[in-house]
Amino acid sequence: MDARSHQTNKGKVYLVGAGPGDPELLTVKALKTLRKADVVFYDDLVSPRILGVCRKKIQLVYVGKRLGIHSCLQDEINSKLIQAANEFKTVVRLKGGDPSIFGRVGEEFAALLSEGIQCEIVAGITTASGVASSLGFPLTHRDYAREILFLSGHKKDGANSEGFKNLNCVGKTIVVYMGLNSIGLIVSELLDAGNAKDTPIAVIQNATLDTERVFTGNLNSIQSIIEENEVKSPAILVIGEIVRFYREMENLKNDYSSILTPL
Ligand code: SAH
Repeated sequence: MDARSHQTNKGKVYLVGAGPGDPELLTVKALKTLRKADVVFYDDLVSPRILGVCRKKIQLVYVGKRLGIHSCLQDEINSKLIQAANEFKTVVRLKGGDPSIFGRVGEEFAALLSEGIQCEIVAGITTASGVASSLGFPLTHRDYAREILFLSGHKKDGANSEGFKNLNCVGKTIVVYMGLNSIGLIVSELLDAGNAKDTPIAVIQNATLDTERVFTGNLNSIQSIIEENEVKSPAILVIGEIVRFYREMENLKNDYSSILTPL
């Protein structure tokens, strides 16, 4: 049996980005794919409202961290997807944000293709873009940040990312995913790299959802701000002068709202 005839007996798996939370930030393609799904495997970051777009009576299978973190979890997910592709026509693996950004889509894509299963990635809006639009600031700006860097707070083995060592924040917007637990290390590495203590940082929890919270500070203050306000996951960090721009825009909005508020 050649690879192509092998494939025709099986369903197709779509690795779909759910966006950062707000269901309106689903792409049209993601929405269409969810509506035709026979089974959906979803993880922690997918808002329940997004699952509501699926047809009634299909199987919704939770495969997130609450099931317990152990080394073979990714292998188990891969086998579940392979098994489902043998049973159903349209299988969706739904992931927060964009599946191609810190979403382990590579492992799943490779596992499926190596079993001869058809597979497609459906882009989602990554949290960084969701945050920028929800708070109303750009990620790049010719006067504040000409470059963007997406970093993860931790690596596969749990060690901190190498990306913060010797990193000069000037002229960049640095977005840190999964950075909450290693904030102390991130701050100390950025200070060791020679960045000023007053380098601005924002932390945004539950971005794009009704429960969104944003706090701004700098390298010196952000850790205590996070502790005092009990900021919890999911949260993203935005580092760089663009945070100053965000504050300036907030001040402008406040100035205008006081002018426009009737006496
Ligand atoms: N693929 C996702 C990222 C997955 S890594 C994307 O493109 O956005 C998981 C991390 O994403 C979380 O630890 C957190 O840092 C960030 N994240 C996801 N959703 C978020 C949200 N609604 N608000 C804040 N951070 C979020």
